[in-house]
Amino acid sequence: MSINNLHFLVAEDHDFQRSTVVRMLDGLGAKSVHEAADGHDALTIIRDPDRPIDIVICDLDMPGMDGMEFIRRLGECESPVSVIIASALERNLIASVETMTEAYGIQLLGVVEKPLNPAKLGLLIERHKATQTRRDQPGTTAPSFTLEEIVEGLRNDEFEPFLQPKVELATGKIKGAEALARWRHPYRGIVAPHAFIGRLEDKGMIDTLMEVMLRKSAALCRTWLSAGLQATVSVNLSPQSLGDVHLADRVTQLVLDQGLEPRHMVLEVTESVATTNVGRALENLARLRMKGFGLSIDDYGTGYASMQQLTRIAFTELKIDQSFVTNATKQASARVVLESSLDIARKLNITAVAEGVETQADWNLLRQLGCAFAQGYFIARPMEAGAYLDWARGWKPPDPQGTVSPS
Ligand code: C2E
Ligand code: MG
Ligand code: MG
Repeated sequence: MSINNLHFLVAEDHDFQRSTVVRMLDGLGAKSVHEAADGHDALTIIRDPDRPIDIVICDLDMPGMDGMEFIRRLGECESPVSVIIASALERNLIASVETMTEAYGIQLLGVVEKPLNPAKLGLLIERHKATQTRRDQPGTTAPSFTLEEIVEGLRNDEFEPFLQPKVELATGKIKGAEALARWRHPYRGIVAPHAFIGRLEDKGMIDTLMEVMLRKSAALCRTWLSAGLQATVSVNLSPQSLGDVHLADRVTQLVLDQGLEPRHMVLEVTESVATTNVGRALENLARLRMKGFGLSIDDYGTGYASMQQLTRIAFTELKIDQSFVTNATKQASARVVLESSLDIARKLNITAVAEGVETQADWNLLRQLGCAFAQGYFIARPMEAGAYLDWARGWKPPDPQGTVSPS
C-alpha cells in the first residue's frame, strides 16, 4: 500500500512538534493525517469506525494518558494498527517500552529519537508494507480450530514437517534442518503451529502430533543421508511430553523404525521444561542423550534456564531466541543478551545457534561475534519437504563479504 493510501494518527502534546510531524507526513505524500494531543484523544479516534487508522506516531511523555498507557489500551482493544514511537527519552527506557509494546501484541514499526526527520520517518513507514505482506502470507493469521477439527486433521494425516535449514556461519555449509509442524488444511491452506499446538497441549494430546513429526522427520532425514547430504533434523518436543517416563524409549523406537540413528536427530525443548516435572524431564533428557540424540535448549534467554540447569541437563546446543537476534543490531540490551548467551555456550562447550536471522546485518554481526550456526528468513523460510533437497543443492555459501544467495 503506498503512503497516500495510509491513514495516520499523530499523538503528541506539543502543538509545534505535532504540526511538524504532520507537515513531514504531508511532504512524504500522506493524504489522511489525524491529530491527538494525548492518549485519550488518540483512543477516541482509534475507536471511531469512520476514521480507520493504519499507523500511529506516538509520543511517550504526554499529560493525561501517557504513551505507555495508550499502547496498553491499544493492545486491549486488539486494534490492528502499527505504531511508531517518537521520543526524547533515554535509550534504555525506550528499549523497555519497545519490549512492552511487543508484549501487548502491538505491531511496532520502530522507535525514533526526537527530533524526527523525514528520512527516518519514511523508512519506518516502509516497514509497514513489509509487515502487511507478512500478514498476508499463508499460515500467519490465526484461524481458530476446535480440538475435534484438529484431531480429525491428525486422523486424516494432514500434518507434516516444513523444513528450515541451519547453516554454519563461518563456512556457509548446511548443518541440518529444523522440522516445524504445519497443517495442510483441506480448505484453509497451510496452517502454522500457534493455531493447534496450544490446544493439543491443553487437552494432553500433543504426543499424537509428536509421533507424526518424529516419524516423518526421521524418514526425511534418512532420504537426505541416502542422497549424500550430511544433515541432522531437529524436532521440537513439548515440555508436557517430558513428563512421561517412557518417552525416551518411545522416541528412540519411532526413529529407529524409520532407519535413522538417533545421532542424526536433535530434540529441541524450551527453557520452561526446567519448571515442570523436573525429575522426570531430567530422567528423559539424560536417557535420550544416552541413546545418542542431540539436545537443544530452544528460545534461550526468554525463560528460566540458568547455568546450573544447562550443565545439569547435558544439552548439546543452545538456540538463542529470535527476539535477541533480530534486535541485536538495533537495541543495545538485546545485543548484551546475545553476546552473553554466546559466551555461556562457549564456556560450556555447547554449539550456539542463532534463530531469527533476518538480514545481512544480522548475519554479519553473528559472524563477527563468533556464533557457530544461523537459522532464519535471511537464509530460507521454512519450506515443504519436497523442496528441501533442491534448495540444499542450489544453496551457495556466502562469499567472504557475507553475501548469501537469495532463498
Ligand atoms: P521454534 O521452535 O522456536 O521455531 C522457530 C520459529 O521461528 C518458527 O515458527 C519459524 O518459522 C520462525 N522463524 C524462523 N526464522 C525466522 C525469522 O528469521 N524471523 C522470524 N520472525 N521468525 C522466524 P513456527 O513454525 O510458527 O513455529 C512456532 C513454534 O511452534 C516453534 O518455535 C515451536 O516452539 C513450536 N512448534 C513447531 N513445530 C512443533 C512441533 O512439531 N511440536 C511442538 N511441540 N512444537 C512445535
Ligand atoms: Mg525450535
Ligand atoms: Mg525458538
